[in-house]
Amino acid sequence: SESTLKYKRVLLKLSGEALLGQKEFGIDQAFLQKISEELEEVHALGVALSIVIGGGNIFRGVAGEKEGLNRARADYMGMLATLINALALQDVLERRGVTCRTMSALEVKEVAEPYIREKALSHLEKGRILILACGTGNPFFTTDTAATLRALELNCEILMKATKVDGVYDRDPKLHPEAQKFEEITFNEVIQKNLRVMDATAFSLARDNHLPILVFNLFQRGNIKKALFGERVGTIIKN
Ligand code: UDP
Repeated sequence: SESTLKYKRVLLKLSGEALLGQKEFGIDQAFLQKISEELEEVHALGVALSIVIGGGNIFRGVAGEKEGLNRARADYMGMLATLINALALQDVLERRGVTCRTMSALEVKEVAEPYIREKALSHLEKGRILILACGTGNPFFTTDTAATLRALELNCEILMKATKVDGVYDRDPKLHPEAQKFEEITFNEVIQKNLRVMDATAFSLARDNHLPILVFNLFQRGNIKKALFGERVGTIIKN
């Protein structure tokens, strides 16, 4: 029931790889279906859910730059990639009958509403899932930074960062099987121990504004719901 929910207002960061599923490029519709099932459950709990979606399954600015593109232009291409993902997510949610809106940080008014904070708040008030596309709308940023920024301005209690791993470890669990996972860690400890959670811009924005971050494994079904009920899932990073 709603009364036992630990978090009622969250921002979920889905990276592009969350849409990749079994594929190497683009969108795995079957996998997207599975994610949308979980999102529907979360929505049914009455959680105010905003989702910032990445674009790495299609295009990343840094990769474009390595191939000779102008970095800022490549980043705009990356932002447009997030818009493609947002529309895919909106579509799969709507097919389930979940009401949602895509808002874009870049103006593409035929395709999605422009991001306006007041309107975003009103969508949440009306129980709509909010899908936030095009990151911050600025090159040289990431969707992790966008997720932190939107979590703060939309008064979310926590930023839930979905990943391929179970949380934050003291060393890379892929290279070191004996790696230890933290259940909870402070922002300063993350810096002291030289661990990587998000890029420095996103990280310092969260730390300076006391936004807790939960890093968790998206590929384990039920994790989002568990986390919302305060069960020990992933790693929480706090001040
Ligand atoms: N991007 C950007 N500004 C933003 C957010 C994203 O320029 O505020 C661009 C950047 O090129 C990035 C790409 O969009 O590489 C896709 O976003 P990101 O790499 O964060 O996606 P993810 O890794 O989460 O799939």
